[in-house]
Amino acid sequence: MKKYLLIPGPTPIPPRVSKAMQKPMIGHRSPEYSEILKRVVENLKYLFQTENDILLFSSSGTGGMEASIVNLLSPGDKAIVLASGAFGERFVKILESFGVEVISLRCEWGAIIDPKLVARELDRNRDIKAVFATLVETSTGVVDDIKSLGKICRERKVLLVVDAVSGLGVEELKTDDWGVDVAISASQKGLMTPPGLSFISISERAWEAAQTSRIYRFYWDFKTYREFLEKEQPPYTPPVSLVFGLDEALKMIREAGREKLWERQKKLAKATREGVKRLGLELLARGSFSNGVTAIKVPENIDGLELLKVLREKYGVTLAGGQERLKGKIFRIGHMGYIQFKDILIALGALEKALLSLGHRLKKGEAVKRAKEAHTESSK
Ligand code: PMP
Repeated sequence: MKKYLLIPGPTPIPPRVSKAMQKPMIGHRSPEYSEILKRVVENLKYLFQTENDILLFSSSGTGGMEASIVNLLSPGDKAIVLASGAFGERFVKILESFGVEVISLRCEWGAIIDPKLVARELDRNRDIKAVFATLVETSTGVVDDIKSLGKICRERKVLLVVDAVSGLGVEELKTDDWGVDVAISASQKGLMTPPGLSFISISERAWEAAQTSRIYRFYWDFKTYREFLEKEQPPYTPPVSLVFGLDEALKMIREAGREKLWERQKKLAKATREGVKRLGLELLARGSFSNGVTAIKVPENIDGLELLKVLREKYGVTLAGGQERLKGKIFRIGHMGYIQFKDILIALGALEKALLSLGHRLKKGEAVKRAKEAHTESSK
């Protein structure tokens, strides 16, 4: 049975990227690796829309989150986290484990936190050093208003750290224009590369904060990575094959153009949402929908885990479940990375059949029809 992976990371890999990763090994101190590293950083800057330094780490996204915290802050510092889902809560956990005092702003999962609340909290607590937000909260499928947060933080001279692990390559991120001091992303989502690499964009203001940060670190030390990057080298052995893959994926993105990518994502997301609604299902988010992942409420008469099992075992379609408090209550369709419109249609078709087999009432064929209409409508 052919398998379809529609989860919010890791995503399927384009054949060009798979092929690039099969290239013979090279040394990471070779001129050839330096050329690749330079090009990868240049192309990441293009996607992050930044002139800042970008450092590459051998880690998943969480490693990038931790690296940002240990380089910017000191025990006893205060930070605000917009904790609107599982990944906002991850920032809270990492910060607290390093002794940072956290003010967590929370909301119902599926909603977003109004940036005005952040401004109010910053005005009440003048000693806050940094605000942590998530571009795409993957657990709920909503997008934070990074532009407004950037303005609020800049006006108050507070650092803004953004988790763009699920966001980069999916949503537009104007790192410099919006005043994002640290943006973190990873290889396995919008960037169509296997998991294992994270990358971090660091502003001048963030570099200043790194001078005085007093959390112990060695492997994650930004300064070491920057010194080596100036020599076009990594400080430690990188996952060379993954870097080959990332290089190829970024070339593909550059060839198509970043605007095309965001436009394509928008169309896929719209088609997915419209198709799902036509199945009689309800979306978790009320607005501020992500273009990379759609979270859907499991109907009351259906067992969410059984639904995913039927999809996977009978139709070869893997979707994601809900995380933490949303486990069993929602499921998620990932439409980021190397996902094409026909994959969405296959997923919707399989979803329709699986729902029918579990006793959900719907009108056959309507979801795929509506998704096609929505896809065409958004092309106009
Ligand atoms: N942040 C967000 C928004 C994510 O979606 C993820 C991965 N699902 C992470 C952080 C953590 O990344 P990783 O699993 O690569 O450590």
